[in-house]
Amino acid sequence: MAKEEFKEPGKIFVAGHRGMVGSALVRCLEQAGEGQLLTRTRSQLDLTRQQEVESFFVDEKINTVYLAAARVGGIKANNEYPADFIRQNLQIQTNVIESAFQAGVSRLLFLGSSCIYPRLADQPMREDALMTGPLEGTNEAYAVAKIAGIKMCESYRRQHGCDFRSAMPTNLYGPDDNFDLETSHVLPALLRKFHQATINSDPLVRVWGSGRPRREFLHVDDMAAASCHLMGLSEERYWSAVSERCSHVNVGCGSDVSIAELAELIATVTGFSGSIEFDPDLPDGTPRKLLDVSRLESMGWKAAITLEQGIRQTDSWMVEHWDELVAE
Ligand code: GDP
Repeated sequence: MAKEEFKEPGKIFVAGHRGMVGSALVRCLEQAGEGQLLTRTRSQLDLTRQQEVESFFVDEKINTVYLAAARVGGIKANNEYPADFIRQNLQIQTNVIESAFQAGVSRLLFLGSSCIYPRLADQPMREDALMTGPLEGTNEAYAVAKIAGIKMCESYRRQHGCDFRSAMPTNLYGPDDNFDLETSHVLPALLRKFHQATINSDPLVRVWGSGRPRREFLHVDDMAAASCHLMGLSEERYWSAVSERCSHVNVGCGSDVSIAELAELIATVTGFSGSIEFDPDLPDGTPRKLLDVSRLESMGWKAAITLEQGIRQTDSWMVEHWDELVAE
């Protein structure tokens, strides 16, 4: 297919708009006021069904795609449901990327995760650390699917000249996060646990693992802003800053905290004054996950929301939605 000029930004499909990242993307794109936003709920369009996705792309004449739809979860969910994580993510991304190509989409952004990097990668992790060592076991299935997504985008560029880009966010948090204690990531889980303990006047909160692992956290509104920034770059600017076989861009804030430090900060924000106990019987996962964000910064973007500001804002959102969260 002849590659057309990028028609700025035309009809924009945000895949996964009900999720935390997708809904932040919708807020960001609505604010920018460019293009015509298109979304579909899972019951309207099941992205794991190839035929449905192909017809949707042909019918809708989409110009730009943000691929934020994914099966996601924290350390426990990833560890317990690896088959679901690898299958659903491979299906969703394969269907969307191939259909986008077939339908002549001008530009696509595939969203991944920092767990694509080797478990013991040098810190901070540069984009070229990809596939230089074994992955972390607890989320290997998910990571393999995400690596396949990056490699698909690169392959479609090499074979067909598609402008399919990839962004790899660090651990994200914010409004619309998953606050379920079994399947969530650490930050929303601790917000919920500490808030609940404050309500109950509990003397103690138990935190999984040793408290020593270090993680980098980025507010989802920063992630959405970075995604829109990356998609706003001209084809020449983006592809001159990356390489054909290492085309993804890390998205983070450039600093990390230990889980113990995170717990202290969340205790302060939620007004919890009891003690914090660690449970070393539960897995720590990767010892450290900090992204090198120099590629992104060289492309003109930097995070704006500090961890404390972001946690306070997310705490307010959680308190506002508390009744719905505990009823689920
Ligand atoms: P990861 O970054 O893929 O390891 O995912 P998580 O956000 O689920 O976990 C990050 C770290 O926080 C791990 O070391 C967990 O053991 C630790 N952690 C401490 N308390 C919790 C909790 O209540 N929920 C979760 N998901 N992780 C916790």
